Amino acid sequence: MTKASDHTYNLLEPLKHDYGTVRNFINGEWVSPKTDRYLDIENPADGKSIGKVPLSTAAETNKAIQAAQDAFYEWRSTPPIVRARYMFKIKALLDAHHEEIARITTQEHGKAIDEARGETLRSIENVETAAGITSLMMGYNLEDGAAKDIDETVVRQPLGVFACVSPFNFPGMVPFWFWPYALATGNTYVIKVSEQAPLTLTRIFEILEEADLPDGVLNLVQGDKESVDAILDSPLVKGVSFVGSTPVGKYIYARCGQTGKRAICQAGAKNFLTVLPDAEIDRSTGNMMASFFGCTGQRCLAGSNLLAVGDVYEELRDKFVAAASQLKVGPGLDESVNLGPIISSKALERVHRYIETAISEGATVLLDGRDVVVPGFEGGYYIGPTVLDNVTADMTHAKEEIFGPVASIIRVNDLDEAIRLTNASPFGNAASIYTTSGRSARTFWYKVQAGNIGVNLGIAAAVAYFPFAGQKDSFFGTMHGQGKDAVQFFTDSKVVITRW
Ligand code: NAD
Repeated sequence: MTKASDHTYNLLEPLKHDYGTVRNFINGEWVSPKTDRYLDIENPADGKSIGKVPLSTAAETNKAIQAAQDAFYEWRSTPPIVRARYMFKIKALLDAHHEEIARITTQEHGKAIDEARGETLRSIENVETAAGITSLMMGYNLEDGAAKDIDETVVRQPLGVFACVSPFNFPGMVPFWFWPYALATGNTYVIKVSEQAPLTLTRIFEILEEADLPDGVLNLVQGDKESVDAILDSPLVKGVSFVGSTPVGKYIYARCGQTGKRAICQAGAKNFLTVLPDAEIDRSTGNMMASFFGCTGQRCLAGSNLLAVGDVYEELRDKFVAAASQLKVGPGLDESVNLGPIISSKALERVHRYIETAISEGATVLLDGRDVVVPGFEGGYYIGPTVLDNVTADMTHAKEEIFGPVASIIRVNDLDEAIRLTNASPFGNAASIYTTSGRSARTFWYKVQAGNIGVNLGIAAAVAYFPFAGQKDSFFGTMHGQGKDAVQFFTDSKVVITRW
């Protein structure tokens, strides 16, 4: 892996100040889509424009879909071991550019540079996992399986064109939950990247040109709802992977159902962390900080409600606030910073509104991140760690996704009440428990309705060879991204019964 020290980067100095107008990558070529709609791409660390993103029309999006369709038949008959070799090449290229990719992610998204490095590593791990396709995609058979002298075989086959609609908060990694598996299984692909953070993936596509994938196998579209609707309307697209907010996830899942497409829709979250009186608080506070305040709270696995069970409350509150007040806010390229800025001024205002609503509904502020000032970066969208106390589960901000660095302490009497409150949420993305009791932990993960469970861990993030799960309003679909689930999603079973 390339390390920061292998390059000479100036601290706080972005790679480029202006990326120009990003383009689509269709059929092996960079093309500027014909459109009259553009958005500014901002560096949230200082609020300055660093480029423009065109919003592709349906017609432009359909060109990418058509290119993927045209490339399908040759690609699907390329042997799996040859497709795996492309994954090895892609991994080597991403390794060589690891630090550069991470720095672009921080520049356009704001997250602390180490988090961006971690994100890039997770992307690469999905390529590594997909490289095992020769084993992952194997079918099965049984001689005399149907009757005497009649053998039965199942093969797994690719389906055609798949597409991904990705969110801003992990602009590099999220598409990697899907596309390496789609390609390795013999499908072709179109990614509609988030219009809020398109630079990381655009740069990754430039880097991957050296892998020499056949034209049309992997395509990139810059756009918004109009592009997404073109994907949903296209009879050529066999399936869609969406990651983003719940209302859009519900919309895409419903539209995929209407048009007979496969769908994985990973959606919004409201994650509860339960702390029992027997928890090791000192050992856990660092981990809790990462959960609540990592990525400045803009993570679908971020902790949001902290359920203090019984008499753990006082110690937990004091140590949690003490640790949170030590975190440094500033531009993410500064290696000493823990919390970078929020993605946009609009998103920052939304976080402020939630805090104001919480106060008006009776919450008290133990630590207020709203008045943070970062000298030299006054135009940036900063907010420090914020801790609210005297919160009850029925308050607006305790029910809805805030997507900012706000922790709400809710006092509960026992584990049963903690599980009841956790399960009362319409979301079910992640939940964690801190305890030294195996029995309590087992009760918790057995009963809690969430797809990703952490025990003494506040960010229950599945690595590449495990499915990235989710339940209730946080996930719509059957198969998940990553690993074996993704291989199932991108292939169909065909049964062959033979008598000779
Ligand atoms: P978003 O829903 O606003 O946008 C996601 C994608 O959908 C973008 O590409 C966008 O262009 C497109 N889109 C937006 N509105 C649309 C519409 N009306 N019709 C069709 N397409 C539309 O989400 P975001 O703000 O980019 O990302 C943050 C959200 O993503 C949070 O809710 C977070 O919890 C969620 N998220 C979930 C997971 C998970 O695994 N469950 C992971 C990361 C992020």
